[in-house]
Amino acid sequence: MTDSCSTPDLLSLEQALVKILAELPQPNGYEQVSLKESLDRITYQPVNSTINVPGFRNSSMDGYALHSSDHKVNTLKLVGTSWAGEPYTKEVNNGECVRIFTGAYVPDCCNCVVMQENVSESDALVKINQWPTRYENIRNIADDTSKDQELLTKGTRLKAADIGLLASCGVDNIAVFKRLNVGFFSTGDELRSIGSQLELGQIFDSNRYTLHALLTEAGATPIDMGVIPDNPDDVEKALLSASKYCDVIITSGGVSVGEADFITDVLNKIGRIHLWKIAMKPGKPLVFGSIDNTHFFGLPGNPVSVMINFRQVVLPALKKLMGLKAEQTPLTLQAIASDTILKQPGRIEFQRGIAENIKGALVVKPTGKQGSHMLSSMSKANCFIVLEQNSGDIQEGQLVNIQLLGKSL
Ligand code: AMP
Ligand code: MG
Repeated sequence: MTDSCSTPDLLSLEQALVKILAELPQPNGYEQVSLKESLDRITYQPVNSTINVPGFRNSSMDGYALHSSDHKVNTLKLVGTSWAGEPYTKEVNNGECVRIFTGAYVPDCCNCVVMQENVSESDALVKINQWPTRYENIRNIADDTSKDQELLTKGTRLKAADIGLLASCGVDNIAVFKRLNVGFFSTGDELRSIGSQLELGQIFDSNRYTLHALLTEAGATPIDMGVIPDNPDDVEKALLSASKYCDVIITSGGVSVGEADFITDVLNKIGRIHLWKIAMKPGKPLVFGSIDNTHFFGLPGNPVSVMINFRQVVLPALKKLMGLKAEQTPLTLQAIASDTILKQPGRIEFQRGIAENIKGALVVKPTGKQGSHMLSSMSKANCFIVLEQNSGDIQEGQLVNIQLLGKSL
């Protein structure tokens, strides 16, 4: 049986993404930030090194620096010590060696380091029990990175290792794209803020909380604009005011074709609408548009739909607007379905799943009931089970695609 919500006018998720990304400009504003402030920021331009790292030959072991050509000599004379930060720079002649510690300068005339476990030392005489080979235990100049080498390409999201790499090259501040200001509000007369007493028919507004968290994870600046009632004038006012200071506006609720759904009408009046139906479950109705230079995403109200639409549609768009280099679609892994999964052909479906490693095999099971109002299923999940548009039921033991959930994915 085909999905009853699948009508011929629906766009596939890929088609929708291509259209949306084509509408979005490349960002250009940047700011200079210190390394400590740069986590998760995105590089505005390539970053090159101005030095070699290491800048000098140094030892990778605690031991003794010596000449490998001395290997016929049984015992070497200890003539000094090279400490990390306190190099030994005098001559080391044949038949001599220098005590050396990890990271310390290797005297130019030495060509290997024997680890301390392989010698016996007494009275400034060092007996080598196991000879090192030439260059052994020496880290060469520019082993890690060399002067003028590109350390990071433009559009890299800085992670801890990148920040350390820049620090090792002496870079102390860096040009990054400006953060995106993303305003968001919820629409719905039934919505109440946390702390209010709920009357019959009312619910707490959760979407603003998930959106705040999702935007923070994405590295944008979230601007919470509250709950707006189901009233075209209020919605219009909120959108017009947000469009003055936001790069992007996201709303939730009010985009399907119910009577109280104003977003599409208002947007048609004050801005532009580009498309609004995607063959995706949950979360079919989605409005993408603009008001002047501000981009607009109108998500459906159901909390799970909000999260899935955000991840699958809004996030790729935000990434482009933030200057992140073109990435592939979210990393997909294959897992074995532990149960039968029901699916009607017609829409790509993102079921909530729990993936685990069972005796070395990646196995996934759905979190249980999959209603798009059930945030508990989203909270339990550590992955989406991605069921392709034309796929039908999945049998137990069949391979399915999953996308792991998590901040950096
Ligand atoms: P709508 O898209 O406005 O028709 O809303 C669809 C469903 O999502 C309804 O059950 C709403 O009550 C619910 N909903 C809408 N907005 C929110 C919100 N901000 N937080 C929690 N549930 C919501
Ligand atoms: Mg509503």
